[in-house]
Amino acid sequence: MPIRRRRLRVEGVVQGVGFRPFVHALGTRMGLTGLVGNDTTGVVIEVEGSASTLDAFVRRLREEAPPLAVIDSIESHTVEPEGGSGFVIAPSDPVGERQTLISPDTATCEDCLRELFDPRDRRHRHPFITCTNCGPRFTIIRDVPYDRAATTMAGFAMCRDCEREYRDPGNRRFHAQPVCCPRCGPSLRLVDGRGATLAGDPLDTAVSLLRDGGVLAVKGLGGYHLAALAGSEPAVAALRSRKHREDKPFAVMAADLDAARLLGEIGDAQARALTSPRRPIVLLRRHAGGAVAPSVAPGNRSLGVMLPYTPVHHLMARDLAEPFVLTSGNVSDEPIAYGDEDALRRLAGIADAFLTHDRPIHVRTDDSVVRVVAGRETALRRSRGFVPQPVTLARPFPRPVLGCGAELKSTFCLAKGHRAFVSHHIGDLENWETLRSYREGIDHFMRIFDIRPELAAHDLHPDYLSTKHAQGMADVERIAVQHHHAHIAACLADNGEPGPVIGVALDGLGYGLDGSMWGGEILVADLTSFRRAGHLSPVRMPGGAMAIREPWRMAAAHLDAAFRGDVPSGLRVAQAHAERWGAVVALARGGVASPLTTSAGRLFDAVAAILGVRDTIHYEGQAAVELEQVAEPGESSAYTVAVSGGDPCEVASGDLVRAVVADLRAGVAVPLIAARFHNGLAMAVLSACLRVRERSGLAVVALSGGVFQNLLLTERVAGLLSGGGFRVLTHARVPPNDGGISLGQAVIAGARDAAGLL
Ligand code: ZN
Ligand code: ZN
Ligand code: FE
Repeated sequence: MPIRRRRLRVEGVVQGVGFRPFVHALGTRMGLTGLVGNDTTGVVIEVEGSASTLDAFVRRLREEAPPLAVIDSIESHTVEPEGGSGFVIAPSDPVGERQTLISPDTATCEDCLRELFDPRDRRHRHPFITCTNCGPRFTIIRDVPYDRAATTMAGFAMCRDCEREYRDPGNRRFHAQPVCCPRCGPSLRLVDGRGATLAGDPLDTAVSLLRDGGVLAVKGLGGYHLAALAGSEPAVAALRSRKHREDKPFAVMAADLDAARLLGEIGDAQARALTSPRRPIVLLRRHAGGAVAPSVAPGNRSLGVMLPYTPVHHLMARDLAEPFVLTSGNVSDEPIAYGDEDALRRLAGIADAFLTHDRPIHVRTDDSVVRVVAGRETALRRSRGFVPQPVTLARPFPRPVLGCGAELKSTFCLAKGHRAFVSHHIGDLENWETLRSYREGIDHFMRIFDIRPELAAHDLHPDYLSTKHAQGMADVERIAVQHHHAHIAACLADNGEPGPVIGVALDGLGYGLDGSMWGGEILVADLTSFRRAGHLSPVRMPGGAMAIREPWRMAAAHLDAAFRGDVPSGLRVAQAHAERWGAVVALARGGVASPLTTSAGRLFDAVAAILGVRDTIHYEGQAAVELEQVAEPGESSAYTVAVSGGDPCEVASGDLVRAVVADLRAGVAVPLIAARFHNGLAMAVLSACLRVRERSGLAVVALSGGVFQNLLLTERVAGLLSGGGFRVLTHARVPPNDGGISLGQAVIAGARDAAGLL
């Protein structure tokens, strides 16, 4: 049988996931000779043997790849046979074009967990146990190719035992870059607010501190968290007041799935999300009377729960044996602290002690947040565990693109070839520290993925700092993208669809083509262009940004518009703000700095304030979140809303407002009114889509925008549309909120570029 040699180029997530040892073991087992090495685009294999064995080898490469590997493509060329014996692992080649994919950070695997709790194992209770199948990746990588020297483990020289495992192709730790043991790896330290080491075993002391009701800062994968006993009201209340976080819910960490089941409802999809190696916070419907203190998630029927994802978490959870709050280590809206000295300085007034260690964090990442919507996992905050996995697109980007994102919940997106790398959640760019992370993040992604953007796609809003970033870039072509077009394009890209579709963007605020603030839009859109086919009735935002922070102002505007100035007397919201009501109504009738808006988010605000659910907010979207929480999910009746026949058609928001007021005055319970409002808006979306279908013939609807974080509304809308014969696209990997905007901008720029429209 003639001997052949093939050179294979494997691309995808193939570095830092045990791919080389896997290839080595497979080749050896199959009696083949050759070599395997990393280069900057992935893994290169040369393999020699009979043609049929080589075919089998390639097949098994795909079928038996290690758990964290994602193979995008295998390219094969025949080369001259070289003979030789055995399989060799070649050292990395650091030059050339970088296109390799980097694995996200991954939860401790079952094998490592077993060793962690095995008293006979040499890594028994080692807080940094890891192997090729698990552990830190994205957050410790400084550069590519992914080798120990390019990670924050560079300062830890392996001991002889670790080195032996690292060099043994048959070992689970073969070429696992962060591998270490108690003798050679990082170590835990417990320090006080001045950085002085506290006596005793760091973990034991930290756990007793928590048990005694203390607040503990814990260094995690992407930053510091703050922990407190979830069942202790004094502990959680102390954390809340010291953090200056009035009522935004905290997430809770439970030891395992069984412990999590005591906190909230867990179906199959929720269980899959909780136990996935990405380990996001999963929003669950909370059990009434669960063992969680009231201050954990005040006024909220859902609860964010996650399972341990680092060895430190596993040790804490097991030793503590009850759930604990684990929330980002920051004060109010600042970004999460990730540098050791910065954390000490910023969190000293909050934490009683710091459980820290000496492995640096290179990239700040928050916990990801997901929710199961209609049986499908939907990302609400995409960060640790998900990033930097790219969204792969059917059509390539002709030129590299930077999508600059929005302003709040901001992300950026760098795209090249078939891949779009959406960044981790960066946050609110108005914060200086966040803006710095944004800029540094773009530089880091440009370096590790070797993408030099030639196009910069940004929001239409002239004042967004992301827009200003695009304007400050040299040597790029700039493309302005309308906010809601970007939302719909993100949903299309998330679903691998090109459009055209009917795009329903129910959102907070986005700059419209006419300079007003859009946010309740029905578009006919594909990836290159859109047409506004419908919208909610416009009202003014009395006092502009003030109206975002004070939903009662939106109540004043919507009431005045709905009743044409003749608002029924005796409404609580008007009485509660009697002093300023008249002035605010005057602003709503055309005052200065009170732009027109069609925002669905602001309509939710208005209804929340009318119903007395919330008049002023402490975090973005709070009134809408609470209105959803208060709504009775079992209620099926809906308010009737007219949709005008014009083009664009207009969804009469005033019908909803008048119906809400009528029920309120008739003494109907608030949970029923809130539900009828949700149902009425969903029916209005259906009516508008039916009208647009008549005109356009389109029967696919994409749902996007921050308001579709609302589970009740999303399920109602999706159900009604499906019942009406529409195919419905919702978000999965990329959030429906402004975290998805950067992807939408990038794909629109790419599509316009490909169509020769630039
Ligand atoms: Zn492992
Ligand atoms: Zn060691
Ligand atoms: Fe938006």
